[in-house]
Amino acid sequence: MNPAPTAATRLFALLGDPVSHSLSPRFQNAALRALGLDAVYVALRCSADDLPGLLRGIARAGGGGNVTVPHKAVAAATVDHASDAVVRTGACNAFWLEGGAIHGDNTDVAGVREAVRALLGRDPAGARVLLLGAGGAASAAVCALADAGVERIVLLNRTAERAEALAERFRAPGVRIDVAASVDALADDRFDLAINSTSLGLKPADPLPLHADAPGPEIGAALDLVYAAGETRWVHAMRARGLPAADGKEMLIQQGAAAFRRWWGMEPPLDVMRAAMK
Ligand code: NAP
Repeated sequence: MNPAPTAATRLFALLGDPVSHSLSPRFQNAALRALGLDAVYVALRCSADDLPGLLRGIARAGGGGNVTVPHKAVAAATVDHASDAVVRTGACNAFWLEGGAIHGDNTDVAGVREAVRALLGRDPAGARVLLLGAGGAASAAVCALADAGVERIVLLNRTAERAEALAERFRAPGVRIDVAASVDALADDRFDLAINSTSLGLKPADPLPLHADAPGPEIGAALDLVYAAGETRWVHAMRARGLPAADGKEMLIQQGAAAFRRWWGMEPPLDVMRAAMK
């Protein structure tokens, strides 16, 4: 636990539903403790109706926090100053008070960028990327990949219309985004990286997001945005094929680190945060 709260303790909160499984309180409190900051980070389950009042109240009281599913779009509409990443993705996952106004950012974008860099050992400029899923996490991934100058992004999602809408949102000169009808249609393709941004892998009985043995595209590396104790089954399956693979823990740490920089204007202790996750 952090030292006992004082009358000056600042409140930081994760707002969402559900939140009880979240690792954010664990590593954010470890960072606060390591730097001797008088603040506490808690998780508060709340409804979409309650989100604006909670978010604004916590920020105006000198705190801040994160927002998770399913409230990131409501949060984007609640903050006074939305960052470029919030405007482009339509989602806000970090908020704080600055200059009397409530600011919001989508640090999932930085989270994906850093997790991709860590896995590949380089920026993905010029890479061909297969992105599974088309929800909020996929939106952050497309934003990060487009900014990094990848050669091509192919979206594959259960609901093709949602993938088409996401592609449309980010298509721009120099950003090639295609939507695949099925994994079979990609059998002759080659990707430097496949990213799972579906929620498959959260439950032990889930099928793999991309079958490891079935015929499909050739893949160079696999990043699962889902994380699990002992890593996800997809990560294990892709490693068994000899591919570099990582689950979503590094993204989680990096989105939290980016939020920490907004809140405190200082560098978070990444090693302490990583150790707290174990
Ligand atoms: P979301 O907006 O609800 O999107 C869920 C995605 O999963 C959609 O593309 C959905 O397809 C797909 N999906 C769900 N059930 C499926 C099934 N049975 N078969 C195939 N596809 C299925 O959620 P999100 O915010 O993008 O989050 C997705 C995952 O990313 C979460 O599970 C979370 O663990 C992970 N995530 C990780 C981090 C991190 O820091 N590591 C951050 C954010 C999210 P449809 O469009 O067809 O419904």
